[in-house]
Amino acid sequence: MERVIGIDLGTTNSCVAVMENGSPTVIPNRGGYKTTPSMMAITEAGKKLVGHIAKRQAITNAENTVFAAKRLIGRKFSSPQVKNAIATSAYRIVEGPHGDVRIQLRGKTFGVAEISAMILQEMKVIAEDYLGGTVQKAVITVPAYFNDNQRQATKDAGAIAGLDVIRIINEPTAAALAYGFGKDLERTVAVYDLGGGTFDISILEIGAHGVFRVVATAGDTFLGGEDFDARVIDWLVEGFQQEHGIDLRQDRMALQRLKDAAEKAKCELSATRETEINLPFIISSGRNEALHLQRVISRETLEALCSDLVERTVDIVRQTLEDAQLGKEDIEEVILVGGMTRMPRIQESVSEFFGREPCKGVHPDEVVALGAAIQGSALMDTKTEMVLLDVTPHTLGILTQGGNFRGIIPQNTTVPTSRSEIFTTSRDNQTAVKILVMQGEHEKGDQNELLGEFVLTGLRKAPKGQVEIDVNFEINADGIVSVSAKDMETGQQQAIQVTASSGLTQQELKQMIDAAQGEMLERRASEDTEATKQEAQRLIAEIDRLFPQVEQIVASSDFGRDATEKARGILSKARAAVQSGNTAQIKEHLDALGRTARMFRGVVQKTP
Ligand code: AMP
Repeated sequence: MERVIGIDLGTTNSCVAVMENGSPTVIPNRGGYKTTPSMMAITEAGKKLVGHIAKRQAITNAENTVFAAKRLIGRKFSSPQVKNAIATSAYRIVEGPHGDVRIQLRGKTFGVAEISAMILQEMKVIAEDYLGGTVQKAVITVPAYFNDNQRQATKDAGAIAGLDVIRIINEPTAAALAYGFGKDLERTVAVYDLGGGTFDISILEIGAHGVFRVVATAGDTFLGGEDFDARVIDWLVEGFQQEHGIDLRQDRMALQRLKDAAEKAKCELSATRETEINLPFIISSGRNEALHLQRVISRETLEALCSDLVERTVDIVRQTLEDAQLGKEDIEEVILVGGMTRMPRIQESVSEFFGREPCKGVHPDEVVALGAAIQGSALMDTKTEMVLLDVTPHTLGILTQGGNFRGIIPQNTTVPTSRSEIFTTSRDNQTAVKILVMQGEHEKGDQNELLGEFVLTGLRKAPKGQVEIDVNFEINADGIVSVSAKDMETGQQQAIQVTASSGLTQQELKQMIDAAQGEMLERRASEDTEATKQEAQRLIAEIDRLFPQVEQIVASSDFGRDATEKARGILSKARAAVQSGNTAQIKEHLDALGRTARMFRGVVQKTP
């Protein structure tokens, strides 16, 4: 059966898992870490860096290091969330040609999906190195509250990364899958998921024989750990301003250092009650004096700075239960997901609200990727009994006259699903109808997310109200929307694509896929060159080290002297090949080097 990987593409960190011998396993990266920072950067020399290596250089290369791209994916440039991101990011966020968001690094413009694709590609490489072969298929998780544009853009990112994304699943649902996997439980669970950038709450019923049914889901795609960090940054900036009259925000490098320090302090305060933030030489004063920032922050201060953020999550939980017509007492288990749930105040608030301690058995950083791997393997295995029934987080509808929104598929409907509506012409002899498809819960259309618009043309000329068009709205298991329309009289089908998606045109997408593929081939070739060179150098060094001993041992026999002479020839040719840097040439000598090293080892071991 073809391997499928599960990827948790996080705002702050990403994680990849795979099913191994029937159980889900997280795959560590080359550094041995089970999660990889969702960061990418471009160095002065034009080199792309992803993961830990990008994070390590973020302070000195802040303007060309992208973090939290997930907050921008599938969003319109004009959205308030993007305005907020522009104010808090050291890298340049610009408007794309389709009102979408683009990122400028060292004079080059990237789509957000393209940046996310680099993170996904890194996760693919981590999996391939571990599994020893290429990996094509993946299940990628998204926050349950992502709308169609954000899902489509994530899928596009997968395609750019060279992945066949067989399913997009919701993060809290994935967490519940991993929690219930192999346990044959029957219970109602709440998954509270607070990560680096997003908050989600989902209520699920886990039924007999592996049936996972999502009852309700809600969230906020702009509420997460980054907001907690921002509060600490504000506190530090204001304190510094009061003391020295200098606004640290004006200095991008200082801002990046503050960001790192704020996040570090926040995490430390989950384990200790007080910590010191110490940033020497943060900026120069007007008189060219070096100024330092040194402040002690207590857990209480952090909690006070962020209390409304915690409260916002609890309000969303309360509303979700109400919408699902459930009481707190109906929830039999609470599962915490996301790095932020390590904060004691959050654990306390959740426990206070539900009146029960959250489940201890799941790892908040790994559980989502594990669930994605479980779902991936279930999708490939036709014999599996597991069934996952998820819901759409937003009402899907259309804009009607007067700018009002009319819902067609309500929020929390189980997906996949479809509904049809009959539209008629509103004017005599009208030959075209324009339909705007949107998602959201507001009565006013402009408050909702526009997914796309389409025009039905070629309608028969007739008095108003006589031409009927059957429009079908569909949400697939990925939560992705498609729309089709049929002229009821002629039966003629209109091909309609809801095109807003990631803001990338098909042509741009194709170019990005080709470019990423080319870069991947180059990367693999250069890794192969490096690995071959290192292997040859390792063998040469071993033979060199054993040479004097072997020479001494075999000195008395002609056969032995011949062998060492031959080894000298092999060594000199191999050295020349390594010097030339030609991989193919080095490879030609690897076998001979390996044989010589084995023979030398044998001679030394056999001699007392
Ligand atoms: P995730 O998106 O699930 O990787 O969560 C990342 C967020 O969790 C970031 O904002 C981190 O700063 C935060 N986080 C990680 N560890 C801790 C901790 N020990 N205490 C508080 N927040 C944490």
